[in-house]
Amino acid sequence: MISVFGSANMDLVAYAATAPRRGETVTGTAFATVPGGKGANQATAAAKAGASVAFLGAVGDDAFGPVMRGALESAGVDVSRLRVVPGSSGIAHIVVDGEGGNSIIVIPGANGAVKGPTPDDAAVIARSDALLLQLELPMPAVVAAARAAGDVPVVLTPAPVQDLPAELLEVVDVIVPNEHEAAAITGQADPAQALDALLELVPEAVVTLGSQGALYGSRGGERLHVPAVPVRAVDTTAAGDTFVGALCVARAEGRTWEAALRFAATAAALSVQREGATTSMPTRAEIDAAMA
Ligand code: ATP
Repeated sequence: MISVFGSANMDLVAYAATAPRRGETVTGTAFATVPGGKGANQATAAAKAGASVAFLGAVGDDAFGPVMRGALESAGVDVSRLRVVPGSSGIAHIVVDGEGGNSIIVIPGANGAVKGPTPDDAAVIARSDALLLQLELPMPAVVAAARAAGDVPVVLTPAPVQDLPAELLEVVDVIVPNEHEAAAITGQADPAQALDALLELVPEAVVTLGSQGALYGSRGGERLHVPAVPVRAVDTTAAGDTFVGALCVARAEGRTWEAALRFAATAAALSVQREGATTSMPTRAEIDAAMA
């Protein structure tokens, strides 16, 4: 079983030819509500990739909470420990203009109210095969969850990128930044050098490189480059979350790093060929078929 302690957001996406300037009202062309948030996305990716997954987090007592709960549930995620807190759910308010540019306001809402794992959450974490963390919850909550993991491997996606306290790094087993996050954390623009620098912080690291694949390294000296699967990408939203979710499923099943990275690259390549975030994430049957 995989635990994901993280964020759930509702993306409210308004499309308009031109984004409104201050004081201006424009008529848009379309509107969509899309359940997201890096925590919920990774939980969905891992469940669709075949794992039993518990999502630990919170939604608000607004109209969006039940929708987000339902979306996770229909992907097969265990939401029995998803809390409802007073006030707004986490919201990403997104305006997309006619050139595909966007401006986004993120309101942490219920995510910001998560102070740490409850005793029940901590018990679930302690009996998991892996704990997945991202940085869309308050840092003290993330640190508390990581420290509840004991011997359970802790996998951190350091996004949105921010300073990483030592008390977190000392209990993270694997860090999985994309190349931009890796550069921001280490100050090294070159991904291979950034990987080496990350290994001074944590025992294992994976740097994702978009269409260039991913680099893996361990303090033991192992280095791997797994290329991306060449496909025509139509929407790369949540490619990284799909990759991390699938990677952890494959590792929890006992696959080698090389095999797990190929499984993750296959899952992510399937997702970028379809529009959407969680809706584009592949099922286990689709991943297995694409790898056969
Ligand atoms: P996002 O922010 O879009 O979720 P990310 O920046 O966190 O993604 P990336 O490094 O862009 O993560 O992508 C993660 C993985 O997804 C890559 O390692 C690769 O395996 C796969 N991937 C991403 N883009 C492509 C692509 N154009 N073609 C094939 N695979 C891709």
